[in-house]
Amino acid sequence: MDNTNTLQLQWAEICTQLEQTLRDRFVMRWLSKVIPSSIENDQVNLTVTSPCIHELIEQNYLEKIQSLWKSKNTNINTVNLKLKADSKTQESALPKTEIVQPAQQTTCVAPEKNESEEIPCYLDPAHTFDTFVVGKSNQFAYAAAKKIAEDDSISFNPLYIHAGVGLGKTHLLHAIAWRIKERHPEKSVLYLSSEQFFQRFLHDLNTKNMDNFRALVRSVDVLLIDDIQFILGKPRTQEEFFYTFNALVAEKKMIILSANAMPAQLQGIDDMLRTRISQGLVVDIAPADENLRLGILQGKNKEMGAVVPDDVLSFLAKSITTNVRELEGALKRVIAHAELIGNPINMNTTQEVLKDILHTYERPVKAPEIQRMVANYYNISLDDLQSTRRDRAFARPRQIAMYLTKTLTPLSLPDIALCFKRDHTTVIHAVRTIEGLIQQDKKLATQIAEITTKLKAGENA
Ligand code: ADP
Ligand code: MG
Repeated sequence: MDNTNTLQLQWAEICTQLEQTLRDRFVMRWLSKVIPSSIENDQVNLTVTSPCIHELIEQNYLEKIQSLWKSKNTNINTVNLKLKADSKTQESALPKTEIVQPAQQTTCVAPEKNESEEIPCYLDPAHTFDTFVVGKSNQFAYAAAKKIAEDDSISFNPLYIHAGVGLGKTHLLHAIAWRIKERHPEKSVLYLSSEQFFQRFLHDLNTKNMDNFRALVRSVDVLLIDDIQFILGKPRTQEEFFYTFNALVAEKKMIILSANAMPAQLQGIDDMLRTRISQGLVVDIAPADENLRLGILQGKNKEMGAVVPDDVLSFLAKSITTNVRELEGALKRVIAHAELIGNPINMNTTQEVLKDILHTYERPVKAPEIQRMVANYYNISLDDLQSTRRDRAFARPRQIAMYLTKTLTPLSLPDIALCFKRDHTTVIHAVRTIEGLIQQDKKLATQIAEITTKLKAGENA
C-alpha cells in the first residue's frame, strides 16, 4: 500500500475511534473538514481551511489525535495541523467530507493580514491559577474566575473581567480555560482574542461561509473572548458577537469576556448588548500595590531559577508601578542581560540595565533631600554633613552627598559647591573620589545604590 493510502486509511480509522469516544456531532463535523495531506518521516500533516476549525481542533483534540496515531503507527511521532487558504487540489479520505472552497473575495473589507497567515492561538501553559498571585487588587476577579472554572452550577453568565493593560486579564482567561479543560476533557473550550474573532469572521464572510463560522462558534461549550472592546468598534462584528452571545446564553453555555473598561464605559457598544453583559458578573482588576508586585516578582523569579537577589526584587517592585507586564519585562531584561554579559545581578547592574525605563518613573531629586537622606543614612547630623569637619565619619558622607547631587540632579558644579558652602574644586575632588571607590569598595557601592533607590522612590529621610 502506498503512503497516501496508508495515511487516508489511518485517518479514517482515527476518526471512527474519535467518533466512538467523543460522541459529539459537532466534533465530527469539524473533523470532516480535516484533510490528511502527507506523511513525512515521523510526522503526519493534516490541513484544514477554516481557521475556526483549526483552532477548535488544535485546542481540544490534537493531542488526542496524536496519541491515537502514535498507538496505531509507532513510526509516527508528531501530528501537525496546518491552516491552509486554498485546498482545491486536495481530497479527503472521508466520504462525507465537504471541502471548504474559498470563494471569490467579496467587496467586504479584507483583513489586513494574509488569511493564510496563522495567528498563534494557544493557551499559554504558564498562565494557570497556580501561577497567578493574588492580592487585594485582583482577589475578586480571581475568586470569580475560579468559581466559573470549578463550579458547574454557576448562576452568572457571562463573567466579565475588566482592567487596564498588563494587569492579568489574559492570564485569568487562560487559567479558566485550562481548568475547565482539565475538569471536563469532553467539553469544547474556545479561547479567541478579539482579533482572532474578527479575522475568523471576515474569513468566513469573505468566503461566504458565515453559517460555518456561526455554527462553529455557537457549538462550543465554553467561549472565552479577550479584549472585546476591539470587536465593539466594528459594527458587523459587534452584531455577529451579539448573536453568538445570545445563542450561547440561551443554551446555557458559558461565556467569559475581558475588556479594558467596565460595560458602562465601553465605547461604541449597543445598549442592548451592554445590558446583557451587565446582567452577568462584572469584576475588575485594579493596579497591583507594592506588596502584590513584589509577590508576582518573587513568583516569576522562582520560575526563572531564583537568580535575582531580594533587594533587586524590592527595588523593581517599588520603582515599576505601571503594570505587571512591564514589571515582568524589567525582570526578564535584568536576567537576560546578566546571562548575556556575564555580570552579576545586583542593584548597580540593575539600575544600569534599566536606566532608560527607570528614567520614566523617576521623580526629580533635590539637593537638600540628598543631604538629609545621606546624613540620616550614616547617622550624622545635617550640620556635621554641611560642616568643614575633616573626620572620616563626616567627610565621606559629605563626599557621597556631593557625588549624588552631581549624578541625580541637573545642578552644575558651582551650584553644588554653593549648596555645600565649598568651592567647586572640592566638589570635583569628591565626585572623583567616590567614582573611584565605587569600583573598588563593594560595600560602599551597595550603600550608594540603596540611598539612590530611597531618594528616587521619594522616601523621607
Ligand atoms: P492583560 O491581558 O490584562 O493585558 P496579561 O494577562 O497579559 O495582562 O498579564 C501581563 C503579564 O503579567 C503576564 O505575563 C501575566 O502572567 C502577568 N501577570 C499579571 N497579573 C499577574 C498575577 N496576579 N500573578 C502573576 N502574573 C501576573
Ligand atoms: Mg490581554
